[in-house]
Amino acid sequence: ERKKLSRLKKTPAVTLDGTEIALLANIELPQDCAAALEAGATGIGLFRSEFLFMGRTGYANRLPSEDEQFESYKTAVTAMKGRPVTIRTLDIGADKPMDTAEETAQNPALGLRAIRYCLAEPQMFMAQLRAILRASAFGPIKLLIPMLAHAFEIDQTLAMIAQAKAQLREANRKFDPQIQIGAMIEIPAAALALPLFARRLDFLSIGTNDLIQYTLAVDRVDHEVAHLYNPLHPAVLFLLSTTIAAGAKAGIPVSVCGEMAGDTKLTRLLLGMGLREFSMHPAQLLSVKQEILNSDLTTLVPKTRKILRLMEADAINEAVEQLRTA
Ligand code: PEP
Ligand code: MG
Repeated sequence: ERKKLSRLKKTPAVTLDGTEIALLANIELPQDCAAALEAGATGIGLFRSEFLFMGRTGYANRLPSEDEQFESYKTAVTAMKGRPVTIRTLDIGADKPMDTAEETAQNPALGLRAIRYCLAEPQMFMAQLRAILRASAFGPIKLLIPMLAHAFEIDQTLAMIAQAKAQLREANRKFDPQIQIGAMIEIPAAALALPLFARRLDFLSIGTNDLIQYTLAVDRVDHEVAHLYNPLHPAVLFLLSTTIAAGAKAGIPVSVCGEMAGDTKLTRLLLGMGLREFSMHPAQLLSVKQEILNSDLTTLVPKTRKILRLMEADAINEAVEQLRTA
């Protein structure tokens, strides 16, 4: 089975009706690019940069410096040989704790994490932005911002990116002035106020792991409530499908980079919603590609539309399962 799948490595991901789908990889460190290429990924859809910041107890200088980060981002974009690399800025906190930042919040998932933390630590954030921008001189890099919900957070972030560019210009450092900037859609408020994002950004990436957590009020790492963590809850499907549709209408690309993107049981449902870009763990990529190669949008789209009207879990589960035999 593995061997059969590996034959698909160079096969373009195209549905039976001829729709091209982008299959990208999620990575944690630059060395994961090898696995991404091995799986035939056409780019990196999510580089979780916080992994450069985690597990560093014992280092004299605990945060990675601008130069150290630059080297890591440059290594990744060089390894990908012209394929796009989407670098997500530091998404620290809650399930991804940094040893240096003491977690004292009662509800860390709702606290000063991700972009909120970055905006509160401008020196650290500016260093990361400069490092990413400098690496963009070596290949196509996109900047992805996690956990945005408010317009002022987007505006503040964009202003800081502009400031980082100005500093680099001043220092005669090369970077891509047209670097694409995108937002993770992973807070329900963001999905429900999408025009705020579509107006300001170049692309969107739906983080279903957190979107499910926050929509259902279910801690994504708490085993006691794991049975309530349901990607097929109608409210989750509503937010996903409306985000994908709104992106298409606004003409800005939308991807899914949460675990749902790598779940072959959900590939056809996402295709039917109109998703054209999936980013996942490299190990899932060829199985998802196989699913895509056998999918026909002309039948999936109307069937998915019907599923989106269902409310009962049993009916939804059954209908999603039936998509696979369609
Ligand atoms: C997500 O929330 O779905 C996501 C892709 O980011 P992370 O899992 O790193 O929070
Ligand atoms: Mg997330």
